[in-house]
Amino acid sequence: MKQEIRRIAILGSTGSIGTQALDIVRANPERLSVEVLTAQNNADLLIEQAIAFEPNAVVVGEDKYAHVKEALQKHDIKVYTGAEALCQVVQMETVDMVLAAIVGFAGLRSTIAAIEAGKPIALANKETLVVAGALVTSLAKEKGVNIYPVDSEHSAIFQCLAGEFHNKIEKIYLTASGGPFRGKDKKFLSTVTKADALKHPNWSMGSKITIDSATMMNKGLEIIEAGWLFGLKPEQIDVIIHPQSIIHSLVQFEDGSIKAQMGLPDMKLPIQYALFYPQRVASTFKRFDFAAYPSLTFEKPDMNTFPAIQLAYDAMKKGGNLPCVLNAANEVAVSAFLNDEISFLDIPAVVEKSMNKVSFIATPTLQEYIASDSEARKEAHSLTKTKISL
Ligand code: NDP
Ligand code: MG
Repeated sequence: MKQEIRRIAILGSTGSIGTQALDIVRANPERLSVEVLTAQNNADLLIEQAIAFEPNAVVVGEDKYAHVKEALQKHDIKVYTGAEALCQVVQMETVDMVLAAIVGFAGLRSTIAAIEAGKPIALANKETLVVAGALVTSLAKEKGVNIYPVDSEHSAIFQCLAGEFHNKIEKIYLTASGGPFRGKDKKFLSTVTKADALKHPNWSMGSKITIDSATMMNKGLEIIEAGWLFGLKPEQIDVIIHPQSIIHSLVQFEDGSIKAQMGLPDMKLPIQYALFYPQRVASTFKRFDFAAYPSLTFEKPDMNTFPAIQLAYDAMKKGGNLPCVLNAANEVAVSAFLNDEISFLDIPAVVEKSMNKVSFIATPTLQEYIASDSEARKEAHSLTKTKISL
């Protein structure tokens, strides 16, 4: 039987997830084609990708629009710019699936627009569910849209749930490598630099998520993400440190049985699983060698040294706009740390103080989420600038 080609829109095609997704398209030309590519600043890579994959349309940040338009003049590719354009291209009739791989709050509106148009979502942008999980999941339900997780832990849970959809989950364990500072204390963390924090032991990723992994906020965001994806309460989600990053997460069922999904740490596998679901497609990815890993180890996370996990549990328990505030303050703090404006330990401090300051809204609308995001950013900015008792 002839295979149908799935036409995808890759939002954030110049990033770590976006470029790996394009590797998968390159390896599977008979199954996947690219309808839309989008980038913010990296115009040269976007141009190169557009020429290689011949999408119908590309979207780029305003500063780079003229350059990209000129470079693609001789090609039959539409060039757009702006947040509105991002929301429109995902709704094109020729798009079969949207890979949401923009980083941060900036990915929210285009993901919502894609859901509104009934497009299945391969979701890498975890911030979308952290910020507005209630709204996004209820809209997806209303539109009958499936959200396939790309985040490796959530893909692992999703894979463990294959054939188990009618069985109740007792709890899940999200695994975490522990990042570059596993086992260190606060005294050590008070001296670490941006270069230290950007050295992740097992994964090569964009800079924002790499810093989130070092502070453990990444795991905090993933707790909230898992809650929305799988309909779980905070007490059903546990974090376990597993430094080898071979077991990508686990599900415990009501009979006490635990299922785990494992493999070498390579994001291509979860990206591919989401893009081809429900099929598993043959790949040439490096295979796991048991003899190379004589022991897989597990530890409890150190929540005192890494307060971000607790902040995320607190935000999830209280709900409303608090996870949105946590996310916005974290984005500002991470960017200030990457600009050498604040220290590593200031990151969770900025988040906690912003969470205490911004007014609480129990059931926000999209406009209220956007307003809470702005208010939290303002608050976090002023904390990073004045450094008042961080
Ligand atoms: P990168 O920083 O590598 O890439 C981000 C992408 O988003 C780039 O294409 C960038 O464009 C684009 N972008 C950035 N800001 C904007 C904006 N304001 N508007 C439109 N586009 C923008 O990030 P990653 O690929 O690492 O991560 C993407 C998402 O996937 C994140 O939410 C992350 O948490 C999640 N994720 C990533 C994993 C990984 O292994 N990398 C693993 C699990 C989840 P440009 O480069 O042109 O500026
Ligand atoms: Mg992850």
